[in-house]
Amino acid sequence: MNISVVVVGHVDHGKSTMIGRLLYDSDSIKEGRVEEIQKLAEEYKKRFEFAYFLDSFDDELKEERTIDTTGVMFKGKENLYSIADVPGHKEFIKNMLTGASRADVAVLIVAADEGIQEQTGRHAFLIHMLGIKQIFVVINKMDAVGYRKKVFQDIKVKVAKLLASFGYQDVQFIPGSAMEGDNIYKPSSRMKWYQGPTLIQSLDGVKISKKSRLLRFVVQDTYSVDSERVVVGMVESGVLRKGDEVVFRPSNVHSRIEKIKVFQDELEEALEGDSIGIVVDKEVERGDVCGLVKAQPVTVNEFLGEAVLLERKLRKGDKLELRCATKRVECEIKEIREKINSETGEVMEKYPAEIAENEAAIILFATEPLVVEKFSEIPELGRFVLVKGRNIAAGVVLEK
Ligand code: GDP
Repeated sequence: MNISVVVVGHVDHGKSTMIGRLLYDSDSIKEGRVEEIQKLAEEYKKRFEFAYFLDSFDDELKEERTIDTTGVMFKGKENLYSIADVPGHKEFIKNMLTGASRADVAVLIVAADEGIQEQTGRHAFLIHMLGIKQIFVVINKMDAVGYRKKVFQDIKVKVAKLLASFGYQDVQFIPGSAMEGDNIYKPSSRMKWYQGPTLIQSLDGVKISKKSRLLRFVVQDTYSVDSERVVVGMVESGVLRKGDEVVFRPSNVHSRIEKIKVFQDELEEALEGDSIGIVVDKEVERGDVCGLVKAQPVTVNEFLGEAVLLERKLRKGDKLELRCATKRVECEIKEIREKINSETGEVMEKYPAEIAENEAAIILFATEPLVVEKFSEIPELGRFVLVKGRNIAAGVVLEK
């Protein structure tokens, strides 16, 4: 099974080193590279640092554009993992919300010598907001605290409490050292007091149900080619078949799929993630969402969302642009129901007049006609950004 893992945690708590360790211990790094990277490390007269692996992977990714940007992969016994590193708070939200990285599982790293820090809570909040249901915690740098059980236990209690406030119960905590390799890929002989699984054993226990989803095709553009009306877009979820009876919303256009085209070829069906052209017998609009007549997308004028503000302030009554998939509409902040501390998940205030940078909120949006889906059901149509000159907030759809 392919599983996408996101590694989160406060800066310098060991995310890159952890990823390097996973790649190294699972033999996912080519022989030549190890030496190359060691040489680099020597040149800098530093201790051998696994973090270098990642940086060099980055360069490789930039050169070879054909590789998926989240294409750092390693293998466990059961699963094949792709990994998304987290450069920083804002980039993380942006990547997650634009779908550049979509994670099934999160690994939260907390350094044993520092414990919970600002981004520990913030990342936990985002993981929760983005609907990632499974999370593992590594209390890292155990080597730096003499592998002491008490340090692990104390931090575990605090982090467990934090995670519980985001709805995560019974989370697996692993005492480890990314640097020394304890309990990451190989069990540690230095923490006899810990009988639980290593990180890779925990990840290998993950099973994800990839159930089939409703068809949602998003219109990017329309063309006329040789008197045919071609609608170009992407199948965001489900399967689209030639002959399907469909409806486009908000346009309210009913049509039949006459042809599915990819370049010169014609297909019988298109799957999730396919960019295609379809030939239909009526006119539709950019931003429309198409679904089967028997499971139609619904146009809304209001929905409830949770958003985190990346800059500026947001007030009740503000009007801004909302972008969801390829659709852009004007929206109004109709009600701010709760202001939420994005570090702790605590509700700070009910019905506040405004929210500030880095705060999150549950907001009732009034919009021009728009198709959205609950993030928990079809994330591709359940995330949005709010724009006022530039992207100022990112959010997910809770209820419609
Ligand atoms: P990131 O910012 O979370 O990606 O953290 P890095 O992986 O860059 O690590 C930050 C620093 O902590 C680097 O100097 C690492 O060598 C060090 N580090 C990472 N993991 C461990 C560990 O398990 N033990 C110790 N002692 N240091 C570590």
